[in-house]
Amino acid sequence: MQHFDYVILGGGLAGAHAAFSIRKKDPQSSLLVITNEPHLPYDRVPLSKDYLIGKLDRQKLFLRKEEFYRGSKIEILLRRVVTSLDVSNRIVVLDEGSEISFRKLLLATGGRPKRILILGSDLDGVYYLRTIEDSDRLKAASATAKDVAIIGGGFIGCELASAFRKLGHPTTIVEMGPYLLNMALDEETCLWIGNYLKENGVEVKAGSSAQEFVARESETGERRVQSVRTTDGGEIPASMVAIGIGISPNSELASKAGLKVDRGGVVVNEHLETEVEGIFSAGDVARFFSPLFERHLRVEHYDVAVGHGMLAGENMVVGDQRRSYRDIPHFFSYILDLKINAYGDLTLRDRVVRRGSLDMEKGFFQFYFNKGRVEAVVAVNKKWEEIRKARDLVSLREDFPDPSILSDETRDLVSFVGGAEASRNK
Ligand SMILES: Cc1cc2nc3c(=O)[nH]c(=O)nc-3n(C[C@H](O)[C@H](O)[C@H](O)COP(=O)(O)OP(=O)(O)OC[C@H]3O[C@@H](n4cnc5c(N)ncnc54)[C@H](O)[C@@H]3O)c2cc1C
Repeated sequence: MQHFDYVILGGGLAGAHAAFSIRKKDPQSSLLVITNEPHLPYDRVPLSKDYLIGKLDRQKLFLRKEEFYRGSKIEILLRRVVTSLDVSNRIVVLDEGSEISFRKLLLATGGRPKRILILGSDLDGVYYLRTIEDSDRLKAASATAKDVAIIGGGFIGCELASAFRKLGHPTTIVEMGPYLLNMALDEETCLWIGNYLKENGVEVKAGSSAQEFVARESETGERRVQSVRTTDGGEIPASMVAIGIGISPNSELASKAGLKVDRGGVVVNEHLETEVEGIFSAGDVARFFSPLFERHLRVEHYDVAVGHGMLAGENMVVGDQRRSYRDIPHFFSYILDLKINAYGDLTLRDRVVRRGSLDMEKGFFQFYFNKGRVEAVVAVNKKWEEIRKARDLVSLREDFPDPSILSDETRDLVSFVGGAEASRNK
């Protein structure tokens, strides 16, 4: 049986950054990354954006070239599925039956797209998006497609709509909730973004979901989608369908191994370590304790995957000197000419305060409060200099007796540092 000091399951952002971090801190160790994909670690972010519309070369997706891994002695097993994990004997089993033992392990297995199981979901022309191959399939299909239906109005759905509009396709988003992005952002921002998309030619069908993908049979016997029947009785013409309704974390391996899993996420502490010493988890699959927010979070964002990976790698090496994950969760999204950045935990809020008018050029902030404490901020088309100040208010977790004070644009954001105190004094 082969043995490695460090084994990383998953060659996504979190897994790759953990490997980079381990190699820096422990240059002589043996280190293996196992991934079921046929590629070296790459960035998924452009797959719904510039790569999809042909504005970014494939090579630019990859985090490092092959020589880097060879030179750094980071072994990567491609196209291999880890089928089971034995935490007591510290062994992973691969799909062809071989076993690998480890001293420390990182579970960075990410997530997979949630599937829709309705009549016609197996038709040609119905796609999901997670991998390079998925993006390539969408790109190839869009070359001949006329109209596109997108199922799911979250960030992936809105970014796909943005890409297909840029490619000139009539595009409709079908969203089950009352408006786009309703699971992520406040109502005012969501409605504003929805209107912006509509003004730019995207049809939005909210409050209904896909009931059937209707087939058209070609002379060659191919069964291809031609429309989407929706639950409200409507029918949308669609020569291709892209589905983006969220992901399911790949945590089955962990739960079968007896590790604690909560709502799909592998539970780890602030050091990103599970209850089993030496076994860590990071990225989309990890439900981590955030000392900053004093609760467990699971976040599916680029920055968190990178930051988690780097920290988990470091903590796997340093023993007693482990550091806590104190970063403030951040995500970004580009939708046509909108640049959205959000910091903090967007899920817990009882009040939202807007700073600035809903203006495309000048942009605006929405501050999310819970019991007077600022929990998150969403910035739409704001400059970095301002975004940084807003982010600092969230990371300081300031309390405000009157949150509405943040809407006062005559005051610089920096003047709100100090929360309640600042509110009184100014
Ligand atoms: C199209 C797209 C656009 C995005 N855009 C943005 C954006 O604009 N902003 C933002 O903040 N975030 C964005 N994200 C999210 C961001 O890319 C993810 O949060 C990040 O990639 C998660 O990295 P990860 O390493 O945790 O997981 P993953 O990237 O999912 O990597 C996990 C890897 O593990 C492999 N694996 C799983 N199980 C096994 C197993 N048993 N054996 C072997 N290998 C296994 C998986 O196949 C995968 O390769 C986007 C995601 C997608 C898909």
